[in-house]
Amino acid sequence: MNMRFSRNDIEQKAKCFRVRMGLNTTEAIDVKTILRKNNILTVYLPMSKDACGLSLQSPEKDKFILVNSKISKGRQHFTIAHELYHLYYDEYPHPHICFKDGISNTERAANCFASALLMPEEGVIGLIPESILK
Ligand SMILES: [Zn+2]
Repeated sequence: MNMRFSRNDIEQKAKCFRVRMGLNTTEAIDVKTILRKNNILTVYLPMSKDACGLSLQSPEKDKFILVNSKISKGRQHFTIAHELYHLYYDEYPHPHICFKDGISNTERAANCFASALLMPEEGVIGLIPESILK
């Protein structure tokens, strides 16, 4: 299902998710801590070059993420944040491999969520010296 998404709505979801995970809206996020705290089984295996990962949820809500071990560490963190969107906010979850340049609205929404989760606007702006912002 391809639903349009609003950037504000997705950024709001990322903020809510941070609060849900006991983080404030600006501090740096450690995705591995989130995976551990939420008992999300995460496996790193080599996948094809353009694949990033996939996520699955059992009917009992057991969560699983597969991450392509061949992509950079930074991209792996982004992939995990992307998969967290599928696991917690995807309205029509279905098993699929996520690629670097996913073009469906769900993939774009998941990428938008990942960016907002890893680099919240308030946090990024807070890092810029005031003299530059003036
Ligand atoms: Zn995806």
